[in-house]
Amino acid sequence: MADPKLLEQIEAFVGREYGRVYAWDQVNAPMIRHWCEIMGVDNPLYTDAAFARKAGFDDIVAPPAMLQVWCMGGLDNENYAPGSTDENSFEVLKVIEGYGYPAVVAVNTELSFERHITLGETLYYTSHVDSISEEKTTGLGTGFFVTLAMPFYSKSDSGNDEKVGELMFRVFKFKPAHAAKPEEKAAKPKDDKPARMRPLPGVSDDTRFFWEGCEQNKLLIQRCTSCQTLRHPPAPVCIECHSFDWDSIEASGKAKLYSFVVMHYPEVAPFDHPNPIGLIELEEGVRLIAGLVGVDPKDLEIGQKLQVEFNRFDDRQTLPQFRPVA
Ligand code: ZN
Repeated sequence: MADPKLLEQIEAFVGREYGRVYAWDQVNAPMIRHWCEIMGVDNPLYTDAAFARKAGFDDIVAPPAMLQVWCMGGLDNENYAPGSTDENSFEVLKVIEGYGYPAVVAVNTELSFERHITLGETLYYTSHVDSISEEKTTGLGTGFFVTLAMPFYSKSDSGNDEKVGELMFRVFKFKPAHAAKPEEKAAKPKDDKPARMRPLPGVSDDTRFFWEGCEQNKLLIQRCTSCQTLRHPPAPVCIECHSFDWDSIEASGKAKLYSFVVMHYPEVAPFDHPNPIGLIELEEGVRLIAGLVGVDPKDLEIGQKLQVEFNRFDDRQTLPQFRPVA
């Protein structure tokens, strides 16, 4: 049960309004072009003025999904445009934390749009706490869902600022379910790490063939039987021809490193740390994510050649992993 004093304090935050956060720059074509390039968006409405005019606009418009981009701070913390508030609209999280709910995870965001945003507009947003749930228990732990609403406005010289969209941002502020209690920590010697097993994948009718293939040391890739397009991760429908018919092929296991990350923190059992994880491009052309083995993370290089191998864990699952080859 949550402390009644906490409930009273957080109730007082609901509806509280915070000041404006301004955009550094007016809505402009270079930022739109860079964003589209980075995100792989090729809709000419955002980059081709002639196309936009034919579509009934005066000039290009900003992609709606860029809404949040305009008012972001700089690369340094708290580097917001002049005139922006220095209030912390997340202060309620600190209050909840003070009652023993230390962890936070972003749960979801919802964007809604009133109209297209055009070149030259100056945007700002305000924030308010939209809602705070009752105390809830999820797989992660016990805590509160806090939803912040951020309406975005276009500034007008006449003072009639117009709402152009809204971002709803929800976080879960919680006590982790698996955190050891202080007395449990004290009772265990430090070197006696609990034997934690690797999490098992969620297996569905679409993915079962892949995991069964791994058990036979085969790397199986889904193939559309109508147009022969390979796809991974497995999905029910071909994105090329929309056919539901598929079979699978066995990949050679020859691959190269398309990209990678090295997990340093948090150190989560039973994984080794640092933990290199690759985005692997198979020679058949599809990519998958898998652990990298037999390499010092410092020696990883984009484009290096890899070969699959199958390793068994906890006597209950076999995973494809990739090892550099000369
Ligand atoms: Zn197809």
